[in-house]
Amino acid sequence: MIVVMRPGANQAQVAHVSESLERHGYVVKPIFGVEKTIVCAVGGEEHKQYDFLEQLRSFDGVEDVLLITKPYKFVARETVPGRSVVDVGGVKVGGDEVVMMAGPCTVESEEQTMVTAKAVAEAGAQILRGGAYKPSTSPYSFQGMGVPGLEILREAGRRYGLKVVTEVMDVRKVELVSAYADILQVGARNMQNYDLLREVGLTKTPVLLKRGMTATYNELLLAAEYIATGGNENIMLCERGIRTFESYTRNTLDVGAVPALKGLSHLPVVLDPSQGTGRRDLVEPLSLAGIAAGADALIVEVHPNPDEALKDGPQSLTIDGFVGMMPALRRVAEAVGRSMAPSRVGV
Ligand code: PEP
Ligand code: MN
Repeated sequence: MIVVMRPGANQAQVAHVSESLERHGYVVKPIFGVEKTIVCAVGGEEHKQYDFLEQLRSFDGVEDVLLITKPYKFVARETVPGRSVVDVGGVKVGGDEVVMMAGPCTVESEEQTMVTAKAVAEAGAQILRGGAYKPSTSPYSFQGMGVPGLEILREAGRRYGLKVVTEVMDVRKVELVSAYADILQVGARNMQNYDLLREVGLTKTPVLLKRGMTATYNELLLAAEYIATGGNENIMLCERGIRTFESYTRNTLDVGAVPALKGLSHLPVVLDPSQGTGRRDLVEPLSLAGIAAGADALIVEVHPNPDEALKDGPQSLTIDGFVGMMPALRRVAEAVGRSMAPSRVGV
């Protein structure tokens, strides 16, 4: 790192910075310029010094601290040659194929889930989404079916050849949900629930980590680093929209996050245009944009009768809407050198 001293910083201040850096394992070389002094420090493990680096910024005489390496290591782009592919029971996320994850926001009944699962599988989806435990803004809203919902998901996945992604909200339920799910979803509201991140990091189950609604890329990647340091490197990053001053949409979908995160990390990146917009009419255009921008997978909400949905009806595609957008998605995937799984009519 480079510590830039303020103009006029005195010898004692430079010495204090240098000694402190040395104590933290750095080899230090101060360079005295005409107006400013900089202290170059190499060899320390910067990603393990987050708090020290913050502290250093407040030392007397320090103007700025410039990092040379990233505060995360396992998930950083340069740590792995090429890109990581997460293998979800044979479905590869992060390879040539753009993977579709689709299904209801929430498991409401066996029939609703089965009808949706069959339709999305036939249209070419490979992963069924659906919440059995739902993070709800209001405690009076439907909170999800719990274990019966997990059972319905697992049966739907088995019947229609789909892998299952579902959210885990509670540290105490990680083992339970892992027994049913092929992917553990850590929702936006839990992106900084560090105990939960550590716990899913102790499993080998792939994790879909959603970006918090006010989280920076750096914070998302540090959340992923928590999971990776536990030993689970099967992580997919998910952009699902952030909160901005715009009120027309539920969230502002940051499509630029897709190439940005792929530049910063080797992990696959998934885009959620449903939570990302809150509007059914925007799901197809933003799905197209997401694939064009390099998304490795999309996660989309689909409901047989969105007007009756218990949750997120306004952003849920009808089955016809989902089936109808797939050909255009395929064309864009092919245009950017990717492919998509074929449709499986009669699954
Ligand atoms: C969801 O996928 O239904 C969900 C609640 O997602 P998020 O955590 O992105 O809001
Ligand atoms: Mn939802």
